Amino acid sequence: MGFDADVIVVGGGPGGGSAAYFLEQKGLRAVIVERDRLPRYKTCAGGVPGSALQLFPFSFSRVIEQRMEQGTFVYGGRRVTQPVPQDSLFMVQRGVFDAFLLRQSGAEVLEGEKAETVEEGRDGVTVSTRSGKRLRARYLIGADGPQSRVARCAGMAQTRDMGVGLEMEVDPGPEILDSYRGRFLVGLGALDNGYYWIFPKADHLSLGIGRIVKGKSQLLSRLQQAMAGLGIEVQGHSSRAHPLPLYAPQILRQKGRILLVGDAAGLVDPLTGEGIRHAMVSGKLAAEALAQGELASYPQWVRHHIGKDLLWASRLARLFYSRQRECFEWLVRNRYVFQDMLRIVNCSMGYRTGLFKIPLYLLYCGLRAPLEE
Ligand SMILES: Cc1cc2nc3c(=O)[nH]c(=O)nc-3n(C[C@H](O)[C@H](O)[C@H](O)COP(=O)(O)OP(=O)(O)OC[C@H]3O[C@@H](n4cnc5c(N)ncnc54)[C@H](O)[C@@H]3O)c2cc1C
Repeated sequence: MGFDADVIVVGGGPGGGSAAYFLEQKGLRAVIVERDRLPRYKTCAGGVPGSALQLFPFSFSRVIEQRMEQGTFVYGGRRVTQPVPQDSLFMVQRGVFDAFLLRQSGAEVLEGEKAETVEEGRDGVTVSTRSGKRLRARYLIGADGPQSRVARCAGMAQTRDMGVGLEMEVDPGPEILDSYRGRFLVGLGALDNGYYWIFPKADHLSLGIGRIVKGKSQLLSRLQQAMAGLGIEVQGHSSRAHPLPLYAPQILRQKGRILLVGDAAGLVDPLTGEGIRHAMVSGKLAAEALAQGELASYPQWVRHHIGKDLLWASRLARLFYSRQRECFEWLVRNRYVFQDMLRIVNCSMGYRTGLFKIPLYLLYCGLRAPLEE
């Protein structure tokens, strides 16, 4: 039996879209199998750093909803606002953003096709879908999110460290919407191991709360409480929760002809919950590994380009979430720290450097932004 493509990519999120784009660039034909019809809703706040978009040679401007100019941080009744350098943080609507990347990839997309089984043979891989399709290719990329079917079928699903995020979309009316134009908000102190947020979109706000440990309990009530304090009514709005597969070094990311990327490979930042950039970078690395026939090197590349730094993020997360009040006062309020955090998400500095700079940040405590009334 012949092949339908060089590579089957299961999942059409940023991991799958990025893998397909770079495969096609390298002359490998990809077919994407996506469970939902596009554009599909994805539980996500949709904050994307400029560095993720710069991986691609085309512009994302058509699907950018807002460009961030300021970030407000809240702890209890105390709040500060910090400037965000131009082009370092963007807000997108994931349904539209993901569908755009898939179109740019040039790959064939099979929408509404849920991958159910995966079989690896001597010279290729077969994926069967719920509708009865059987697709064959030389390689398979599992980009199907935290509960990856590909990982389970391939015997690559191990126990993973999962956080959880809950999101809702709310139109609070023109006045409040306007007050968040170009500005996001992050709130500390509402949870032991997490934070809540307001990420603005063109015509609504993405409100949410997430923690870096398992368990949905109290997420909704804490979010409702926090939003009431900010004058935003959320009662009656539906919300969705979704796992955050945090980075852990031991996870299997390659087996035979199968590679995992993005959430399927457990690449979420254990401090911030950021995952879009790592999904895109791992998609690119997977495409390179397949193009060079270096499948066995892929896990090492992921550790080098993504994992090494996220291990430092998990150390920082332990410190940060256990001492939120002190961290708000002495780190978050410091202009220097916030600029460094944006350097980290934009890949011009690592978490390791950030941790080693903590004594310096404390020394420069005069750079703390003034509290707002
Ligand atoms: C509440 C919340 C807020 C977040 N906010 C941010 C943020 O602001 N910034 C950020 O960087 N990250 C954020 N994240 C994390 C981010 O959403 C993920 O890390 C990112 O979506 C991972 O991309 P992915 O392509 O690996 O997986 P996904 O985006 O989950 O895509 C997987 C795709 O696979 C499809 N699929 C699943 N199973 C199958 C199957 N069996 N067959 C076919 N298709 C299948 C799904 O329909 C989906 O389209 C947030 C997460 C949550 C939960």
